[in-house]
Amino acid sequence: MSNSGMAFQQISEIRNQLRCLGARPAHEQRILRLWSQAKSQNSGSRPLESFMPAALRQALPELTDSLSNLLRLQSTHPAEDGSVRWLLALQDGQTVETVGLPRDGVCVSSQVGCAVGCVFCMTGKEGLIRQVGSAEIVAQVAFARLHRPVKKVVFMGMGEPAHNLDNVLEAIEVLGTVGNIGHKSLVFSTVGDSRVFERLPLGLVKPALALSLHSTRADLRAELLPRAPKMTPEELVEAAEIYAQQTGYPIQYQWTLLEGVNDTKEEIEGIVRLLKGKYALMNMIPYNSVDDLPFRRPSWERAAEIARTLHRQGILTKLRNSAGQDVEGGCGQLRARHLLAESSSNQRNLSKPLRTLVALEAPLHFVKAKPATFL
Ligand code: SF4
Repeated sequence: MSNSGMAFQQISEIRNQLRCLGARPAHEQRILRLWSQAKSQNSGSRPLESFMPAALRQALPELTDSLSNLLRLQSTHPAEDGSVRWLLALQDGQTVETVGLPRDGVCVSSQVGCAVGCVFCMTGKEGLIRQVGSAEIVAQVAFARLHRPVKKVVFMGMGEPAHNLDNVLEAIEVLGTVGNIGHKSLVFSTVGDSRVFERLPLGLVKPALALSLHSTRADLRAELLPRAPKMTPEELVEAAEIYAQQTGYPIQYQWTLLEGVNDTKEEIEGIVRLLKGKYALMNMIPYNSVDDLPFRRPSWERAAEIARTLHRQGILTKLRNSAGQDVEGGCGQLRARHLLAESSSNQRNLSKPLRTLVALEAPLHFVKAKPATFL
């Protein structure tokens, strides 16, 4: 836990604390702006005494400490493609992964673990451990900004943002206002949930939407994403298209290509049937094989052929690789390595086996997707 007397997980808690210290809305916005942009609270030419209440001014050092204590760097893993994976510890010792992406992007985690249980994702096998608070989400962006420029934030790290909607939307509102990220450059990535389609259009900040489709067959999709909400691919595309028309941004459909599973002629025809004429971009991401799971990555040639076929039929398609593949294969893996190391150490120190952790040896999150090959 933080040494500071102030401990937050939510932005609303920070706001409440500031109000108790006499902050007016302009002070609140200033503090959140400087924090989310990784700038010093003493920035600016005007002395704090000239505009900030004394109680708030005096509490600023402690507040700054509390905000920087939201996350602690555990390890850094740069990759050849220019991305970097950070394993970050939250105040309760749980860990999340945040990825600095090539071209000024950052991928943040919205949950520790995940309840959706996609069968090709080892992160999902962990189940949900806890929600990541809105302040902890913004802190991941602030952390990344200490190391590199950030102009785009994608919610494609560990977790399903739709299952932590209040926190994710609160973070999006801060990032899209005082956080200085363009609304279109905030990408909410989901397996699809009616609450998402109801709430995103109502927000002050409307993010772009990435929808993990993976199959056009309802039965196969239900097998691949067993605890995703029961919306058919047709219903998902219909709801997403309404949002695309409302916002003026295309929907980014995500498709993890699994050899012999969803790389078939039937699926290609299904994609054309569902997406032709829609305001959509299809991101095809060949799966990263993991020893413990029975899925295989199709060859790059096969993936390129599928993307070309779709493109010829009028579906704007990009073929992508997961960011930082050379590091550990995918999001969630660093956390698992960390847990395994802790597990081994506990076994050594306490002679108390934590056998369930062994199953986490090689987790993978599949939807992070940079860079792109344009076809
Ligand atoms: S792929 Fe994403 S949504 Fe599916 S289980 Fe993994 S973390 Fe959850």
